[in-house]
Amino acid sequence: MKEFHCGSLVPGCDWHTRHPEEAEVMRRAVEHMRETHGESTIRETMVEAIRSRIETKRDAA
Ligand SMILES: [Zn+2]
Repeated sequence: MKEFHCGSLVPGCDWHTRHPEEAEVMRRAVEHMRETHGESTIRETMVEAIRSRIETKRDAA
């Protein structure tokens, strides 16, 4: 399971998402940046910043 917490990138934001596929987590995170934080242009540096903050969680036992 991959997990991304927006607060690790945008202090104070409590939005987070999780999905088994990193690509889906990336897609949702980019969408969230656009819709919530007004990032109309998602630069490669932003993509890298998100990717570096995606955590891998063990599936619940
Ligand atoms: Zn956010």
